[in-house]
Amino acid sequence: MPELPEVETTVRGLARYLEGARITRVAVNRPDLRRPFPVDLVQVLTGATVTTLSRRAKYGLIHTDRGSTMVFHLGMSGRWRIEPDHPEKHDHLVLETGAGHVLALNDARRFGSVDLVDTENLDLWPAFAALGPEPLGDGLSTSHLVSAFAGRKTPVKPLLLDQRVVAGLGNIYVCEALHRAGIRPDKAADTVSKAAITRLVPAIKAVLAESILAGGSTIRDYAQPNGELGYFAASWQVYGREKLACACGGVVERMVQGGRSTFWCASCQK
Ligand SMILES: [Zn+2]
Repeated sequence: MPELPEVETTVRGLARYLEGARITRVAVNRPDLRRPFPVDLVQVLTGATVTTLSRRAKYGLIHTDRGSTMVFHLGMSGRWRIEPDHPEKHDHLVLETGAGHVLALNDARRFGSVDLVDTENLDLWPAFAALGPEPLGDGLSTSHLVSAFAGRKTPVKPLLLDQRVVAGLGNIYVCEALHRAGIRPDKAADTVSKAAITRLVPAIKAVLAESILAGGSTIRDYAQPNGELGYFAASWQVYGREKLACACGGVVERMVQGGRSTFWCASCQK
């Protein structure tokens, strides 16, 4: 499942082909993904020039000179195929640029989505309106988490997965960041010390930044025929390592919180 680092890598890869480019052809090959494609998608995008690309949480944003932004979500299985040498069954949306580049949004399971949103009102779009700060931006600070955790009896791990607290954080990254910061995942949020939060903030940013860096190498694939973004297998310290040794000498355990697996080490997370 594409997480924030994969979406960021995808956006950076797409930017190489789309930024400043005019979209000359738009093909929609089925009516819907998780929900219908916008009825005016082909009309709005055809002939538009892409001004810039960005990311918000796990959404990719393609901004155009028509005041509309195409917002995509990769769902469970979505991926962009760059310069595919042949069409594939699940290429549901295909864009072609004035330079002749072809970009196909492929989504076998169709949990993804494509929307058109007024660029100036993006912050008001329902999926964005309640989002917390971006984890890699200045908005995720010690003072933000201190106030977000204050008076909350909720265990810290599910609270960090709440998109209203921090936008776009996924299960893997929360497990890894809590391990780096030495915080028990089931600790009540309001009992996490300010010192621990001060360790947690850079841990979150570092885990994400390292994953984006690891994924950056796959951007090269975009230049190849039939290229697509490969999801990278980063080396995790605790995630997926139940019963294996922790670097501290302890043993990684698994517990279930809110229906999600949490991997952690009782020896070094207090
Ligand atoms: Zn440990």
